[in-house]
Amino acid sequence: MNKKPITVTQPSLPPLDEFIPYLESIWEDKWLTNNGKFNRELEAELERFLGVEHLALCSNGTLALMLALKALDVRGEVITTPFSFVATSHSLLWVGAVPVFCDIEDKTYNIDPEKIEALITERTTAILPVHVYGNPCDDERIGKIAQRHGLKVIYDAAHAFHVKKDGRSILTRGDLSVLSFHATKVFNTFEGGAVVCHTEEMKQKVKDLKNFGIRGETTVVSAGMNAKMNEVQAAMGLAQLKYLEQNIAKRRAVADHYHELLDGLPGITLPAERADVSGNYSYFPILIDGSCGPSRDAAYDLLKRHDILSRKYFYPLITHFPMYAGLPSASAEKLPVAERIAAQVLCLPVYPGLSRAHVEKICRLLREGEK
Ligand SMILES: *Cc1c(COP(=O)(O)O)cnc(C)c1O
Repeated sequence: MNKKPITVTQPSLPPLDEFIPYLESIWEDKWLTNNGKFNRELEAELERFLGVEHLALCSNGTLALMLALKALDVRGEVITTPFSFVATSHSLLWVGAVPVFCDIEDKTYNIDPEKIEALITERTTAILPVHVYGNPCDDERIGKIAQRHGLKVIYDAAHAFHVKKDGRSILTRGDLSVLSFHATKVFNTFEGGAVVCHTEEMKQKVKDLKNFGIRGETTVVSAGMNAKMNEVQAAMGLAQLKYLEQNIAKRRAVADHYHELLDGLPGITLPAERADVSGNYSYFPILIDGSCGPSRDAAYDLLKRHDILSRKYFYPLITHFPMYAGLPSASAEKLPVAERIAAQVLCLPVYPGLSRAHVEKICRLLREGEK
C-alpha cells in the first residue's frame, strides 16, 4: 500500500474542464503573452477582489520584489526581517542593496518597529517588512518611522493575499506591496506575482520595467527586464479566483479545528487570533517550546514517521545562510526573538482539502505522542 503523505500545503486547482476553454481561447487568438486579454482581465478582477488599484501582474513574486525595489530606486541599506522566505533578502542583493536585519516581535513574528530606528544610517533608503504568515505588520508605526527618516516602504505581501486590517486590504499600505502567486500560496497562477501600486504613474513604471523598458515600437524608457506574466498563467488566475472565498473558508475551518483541539496544550503557542484582522489562513504556525513535551524537532520527526510533513518555516533564519551570515546585523545576539521563534516554530498542514480526520490525527500525535 502506497499512502501519499500529508504535506504542509497542496496547490488549489480549479476543475480542469473550467480551465480548458481558456486554453482554447488562447489557441484561437494566438496571443500568448505581452499584456494579453487574460492579463488585463485578471488585473481588473484582482483589483476588484482585493480592493486595490493599479495592480501590475508579474511572472513571479521574486521578480515582482525586484521590480518594486527598482521602481523606487532603492539602493544602499534596506532594513528587513530575517524571519521570512529567503527571496525577501535575495531580491535586495539582486538590486545591489545591502540587507540590514532587524529583530521581530514575539506575537506577530513581523519586524519589530521598536527596533528599526536604531538600525537607520545615512545609507538607509528603505524598509522591506514581510506580513509573515499573512499577519499584518504594524504599518502605522512603520509608516511614521519611514516618514520621519525619508525612507521608502515596500511590503513583501507574498503571504497576505486578501488579508484585511480594519476592513481594508493591507496591500494599500506603504509605497508598494508585492504578492506571490506561486503554486504553494493561497492564490496561485502556477508561478506568478504582482506589484500593487498606488498611482497609475507608478504602475506604468513597473509595466515598463517588466517588459524591457519598452514603451513603444521604437521607444525604450528604462533598463527593464523580462518579468511578464503569460496568458496561461493569467487564465489560471481567472479560473482560480472563483474558488478563492470558499477555499479560504475551508482553510479557516481547518484552523478553527486545530484551535479547538490544541488550545491549552502546555508548551504550545497557537497563532493569535486578531479581532481587527480578516486573515487568509495560509499557514498554521505553532510554537513548541519543549517545556512540557517533545521539542519542535522531535514533534516534526514524530509527525514525519506518520507520513505527515509539517515544515519548520522559517528555520533556518535568512541570516544563517552563507551570503548573509557575515553581515554585522546578522549576528544571533542581535536577533534574539527571531532566533527563538525559528527554533520553536512548526507549520502544520493546512489546505482546503485537508480532512477533519487528518487534523485529529495530527493533534492526537502532538497531544499524546507515540501511543
Ligand atoms: C513565496 C515567497 C516569495 C517569492 O515568491 P515567488 O513567487 O515564489 O517568487 C517572496 N517572499 C515570501 C515571503 C514568500 O513566501
